[in-house]
Amino acid sequence: MSSQVKLNELFTKTKERYPQLKEMRIKLKFKHGFFFTMRSGIEFPSLWKKERVYFVAVNTNKFDGILSQLSEDDLVGWFAHELGHIVEYNEMSNRKFIFFVIQYLFDIRFRFLVERRVNALTVNSGFAKELIGAWEKFLTLEGVHPRYKQYIIKNYAPCWEDIEEEAIKNGFTKEGYKKLTMVK
Ligand SMILES: [Zn+2]
Repeated sequence: MSSQVKLNELFTKTKERYPQLKEMRIKLKFKHGFFFTMRSGIEFPSLWKKERVYFVAVNTNKFDGILSQLSEDDLVGWFAHELGHIVEYNEMSNRKFIFFVIQYLFDIRFRFLVERRVNALTVNSGFAKELIGAWEKFLTLEGVHPRYKQYIIKNYAPCWEDIEEEAIKNGFTKEGYKKLTMVK
């Protein structure tokens, strides 16, 4: 089974776990790109049409690197995060979305705020095990600079209080979480 087939299957399964996304058109796309591993957005031409088309893009250049080291659960956690962004986009008008994209690109504090909020939403949508598990895996990955790992976890992880209930339900503890998110 090719990995694109596998990813498509995992993606569909993940999407089905978000009741908010049930009726929405979301494509999984494979792209050759730089820097990013996955990202999500609205297909630009569809902004002015009746129905928006959302996408999650996976960078095929990362297939042999970072993606090959992730388990199925880790990938579900990552997809769930990208879909969490789409839950937010779906609540924005076109105008708001365009301002959002500009601010996200140029304002790093805003970006941290968005990522923290989306990660809390993802955990609280029932993906605590997969998402926190994916971060634990992320910290052990080869070929990713330790400083980059620390930077991402430190700035993207939500505060414990915002995810406490779901995290505890899934067997995580406050101490363990603090240890994970305050890595050296
Ligand atoms: Zn994100």
